[in-house]
Amino acid sequence: MSLRPGDTLVVASHNPGKVREIEDLLRPLGFKIVGAAALGIAEPEETGSTFEENALLKARAVCAATGLAALADDSGLSVDALDGAPGIYSARWAGPQRDFAAAMARVERELAGREPKAKFVCVLALAGEDTHCFRGEVAGTLIFPPRGTLGFGYDPIFVADGMKETFGEVDPALKHRVSHRAKAFEKFRAWLKAQT
Ligand code: IMP
Repeated sequence: MSLRPGDTLVVASHNPGKVREIEDLLRPLGFKIVGAAALGIAEPEETGSTFEENALLKARAVCAATGLAALADDSGLSVDALDGAPGIYSARWAGPQRDFAAAMARVERELAGREPKAKFVCVLALAGEDTHCFRGEVAGTLIFPPRGTLGFGYDPIFVADGMKETFGEVDPALKHRVSHRAKAFEKFRAWLKAQT
């Protein structure tokens, strides 16, 4: 599939925190970016059992509805001592109210003082004439209570390896240099470059 600067790319996400970050990361690539919500496209149910499956089903749904290339992100927090939970259920742990204070409290409760090692995982799926997946991960440590009001989701409890502050406290530009989403984007960019 070919995707060039100036082409329209639909961001297949309804999560405003993610859309903001994806737009920041996409901006230098020169696409015309449109959000799926702005096009009135409903978000499909995430019935997959892996980040890749869920990212692909979101990207494919938007591509089928619009005929345009679509980029979806499926991501989450994976805690070592919880066998990778909440993982693909990261959004669902926050319930229909998207209550991340409650989701972070649940992580702390289930961790029950065990080793607080975790990673954020991001899989970007691109759907057009064919499909491609790009995975990025960042390792870190969880801290409680949550700190910082920047970012979104589980950012206030996650300190990336090599950093001292949580993703909820650091400048978003710094998060974009090291995050799971940034790493997935590096792979996406390398793939785009190889197409030209
Ligand atoms: P989904 O990919 O729409 O299923 O949602 C992923 C969920 O993982 C988000 O709602 C957040 O709770 C969490 N998540 C993903 N990426 C990040 C991040 O960069 N910071 C904090 N939380 C994240």
